[in-house]
Amino acid sequence: MTQRVDLNPELEVVEMPAQILNEVFAHARETLPEECCGLIVGTPSRPHRLVVRCRNEMTRHHQRDAVAYPRDGTQGFYMNEIDYLRAQQEAQARRESVTVVYHSHVDCGAYFSAMDQDFATRPLYPFPDADHLVVGVAGGHVKEQALFRLDPETGRFAGHGVVSLLSEAAPVRRQPQRCDVPR
Ligand SMILES: [Zn+2]
Repeated sequence: MTQRVDLNPELEVVEMPAQILNEVFAHARETLPEECCGLIVGTPSRPHRLVVRCRNEMTRHHQRDAVAYPRDGTQGFYMNEIDYLRAQQEAQARRESVTVVYHSHVDCGAYFSAMDQDFATRPLYPFPDADHLVVGVAGGHVKEQALFRLDPETGRFAGHGVVSLLSEAAPVRRQPQRCDVPR
């Protein structure tokens, strides 16, 4: 049985621009008491460039068919297809791709649930290579965040810490050592 994945503080921390994280946090607060969901798009050299909000359709599906969709939007998310397909097409037209799928948890922590993993590993899942950012909201405030990335060696998701980069123009980069410079 699939078990939830929690943040592993021993893993490498992922840096994201503060502006991108703030937009995700604002979205998570605005959709309360429901979960928010959306995408982050970018390029390999600038993976977290733009946040694209998507509508959470879980409450609508739950009201239509509570057997197939036992949870409503306060406990789950179902991305509006038009929203995510449009975001994907617009990203491809700019030679970008969807690098992160994000959603919030309301009144619980930033872990990757069994349901989240089942959703992200379905055969026709549209973003099989994307990371997953989960933000935990409690008392109306974002309390924690973590990024879940598939580990190619184990085939399982691993939870990385996320820190914000204040200035995207000056990311932390290690300068090459003198001995690294080719002669
Ligand atoms: Zn979740």
